[in-house]
Amino acid sequence: MRILLVEDDIMIGESVLDCLRAEHYAVDWVKDGNAAELATRTDTYDLILLDLGLPKRDGLTLLRDLRTRKDRTPVLIATARDAVSDRIAGLDAGADDYITKPYDVDELLARMRALIRRSAGRAEPVFEHDGITIDPQSHAAMVDGSPVALTAREWAVLEPLIARPGMIFSRAQLEEKLYSWKDSVSSNAVEVYIHGLRKKLGPNLIQNVRGVGYVIPKT
Ligand code: CA
Repeated sequence: MRILLVEDDIMIGESVLDCLRAEHYAVDWVKDGNAAELATRTDTYDLILLDLGLPKRDGLTLLRDLRTRKDRTPVLIATARDAVSDRIAGLDAGADDYITKPYDVDELLARMRALIRRSAGRAEPVFEHDGITIDPQSHAAMVDGSPVALTAREWAVLEPLIARPGMIFSRAQLEEKLYSWKDSVSSNAVEVYIHGLRKKLGPNLIQNVRGVGYVIPKT
């Protein structure tokens, strides 16, 4: 899951960034409205967390532009607790939901999950295959009843595969899920994480399709 965090307050931005990364989201953080617009034009996101008061170009203008361009990416706006008029303006401009600052982290995560689920049109069913159970909500994995700990990056590679069994993902597509743009991408990174996942989840779950990519077979 790839998130665009638009926040000009450094302290708030850093704490949200830490919290989202701990929850295994890939996050790009931009600090003004122009950078946010550029990001929405050059990348695709599963969700945009948008502060409304921003330098250079305010969040509402950005949001209206986004919707004018028919970009339906879920947008969660952040407003001050007493700023009812901002909230209404934001929802009218095409925001999907709002959260008030200061953030309650658990509420933020719950609202994000709900929006991502809604936009994906699915209730994130628990994945079960050949003794392997994976809960997309909690990222908890079990093999033959024993819990297996996955790293954030292993999860980033695994998540699209279990979400769509039978669909082949190229290495480049998985790489995109793996990193936010400031991280360096080594050429064999996806192979490394697939190797790690196979050690933890068994050799047969994720299959290579030679020259094309990776797939988890439909059961
Ligand atoms: Ca602000």
